[in-house]
Amino acid sequence: MFSPLPRSFPAGEGLQQLHADSTLGRSCLASGHAMRSTVHSIAAFEPRPVCLRCRRPKGSCYCELIPRLDTTTRVVLLQHPRERDMPIGTARMANLSLPNSELHVGVNWQQSAALLSAISDPQRPALLLYPGDDATDVARRPPAGPVTLVVVDGTWSQAKKMIRENPILRELPRFTFQPPNPSEYRIRREPKPNCVSTIEALVFALGALEGEPVRFRALLLPFRRMIDRQIELKELNHSSPSRRVIKKKRAPPSIPIALRERRDDIVCVVGEANAWPWCAGELRTAYPDELVHWVAQRLSTGEVFESIVAPRSPLAPNTTKHISLDAEQLHSGGTLEDLHSRWREFIRDTDILCSWGCYATNLWASSGGYLPPLRFDLRGLAKELLKRNIGTMDRFLLSIDENPCHSDASGRAGVRLGELVRIAECFSGGRIVPQRQHAACDLPAGT
Ligand SMILES: [Zn+2]
Repeated sequence: MFSPLPRSFPAGEGLQQLHADSTLGRSCLASGHAMRSTVHSIAAFEPRPVCLRCRRPKGSCYCELIPRLDTTTRVVLLQHPRERDMPIGTARMANLSLPNSELHVGVNWQQSAALLSAISDPQRPALLLYPGDDATDVARRPPAGPVTLVVVDGTWSQAKKMIRENPILRELPRFTFQPPNPSEYRIRREPKPNCVSTIEALVFALGALEGEPVRFRALLLPFRRMIDRQIELKELNHSSPSRRVIKKKRAPPSIPIALRERRDDIVCVVGEANAWPWCAGELRTAYPDELVHWVAQRLSTGEVFESIVAPRSPLAPNTTKHISLDAEQLHSGGTLEDLHSRWREFIRDTDILCSWGCYATNLWASSGGYLPPLRFDLRGLAKELLKRNIGTMDRFLLSIDENPCHSDASGRAGVRLGELVRIAECFSGGRIVPQRQHAACDLPAGT
């Protein structure tokens, strides 16, 4: 027996891993600065530069170790949506390493045209890599010709449920194998000693199917790097005395002093991407999100910065609709280098950058552009201060300020910039009042 999906690690522990990583990223990015204590005590955020290919923080990127392994086998990875957000998953790694593979995310595959098309190739009959009483051992009795190998990626119980509820998967011929080695997945506990990760299952299965067991061991290179890195971060996180000190000294939430007292330094930013949707499968893998529109406004002077960057990848079908710029505007945009140098003239090291969430600033950092050291995610800050879900930027703004917004910048980014500037004004003017959990006014009347 083996588990092609080694999700023995409870979700909570997986999240801890992510947190360990994120804590480290923040500590590294927080440069020596007068506002440092504020940055740690509140949700001031230091966005981690993220590699858009492997979606790991830059310090944990394993892309340089990703092999390119051509196969006659077509590999179809079906990922449970919860697995997609796991920082230490391996399906994406496998997808990046195998050109003849595709990664689909979902739960209900009965109506999936993508899956139906993938498993209907008469030249490559489909089989499911999953254990079972009637499963054939792929190493002992490999199929005669090339096949389409369907692999489910999720926890043990997610995979079981997915197969139970999708006859299209249940009815596929089933193949399994005996893992020759124990799993190297040291960062997750396996439900059974002989359970392995998705990528390890592929090493064994493809080795047998393609008759070249040694060649596919290259898949383990990025996998081992990821595991070593996670263990390193976990140890670092546990041994760092500064973390404990910060926890003990945590102050009650309040608007950071920098936002209240340094209005002249506040700059709001919004970025837009040419982003291929998840359903685009291979195209999304081939063309990671790329920055195409970057707008900013200085709070005190109203000075606006705007730059459109020509897409470097093919334009995704909905990009123009989403970002409200037409294809001509985008294609006549400048280069990233132009944008970076113009931006460097606009932005000062002492500026305080305000964004809504981290996506835009991560996108910007991934493009190689400069960001000043002090930055705030106003959405995260609002959530922490008000202790409630914040929702979209326009709804949140309506809840705190009903004055109309305006920005000179174009497209959807321009609209959002106008909204973000008003929100930043509210923070700066102290008009967002922190909720205290045990405030006197919370007591029922008559007490
Ligand atoms: Zn990477």
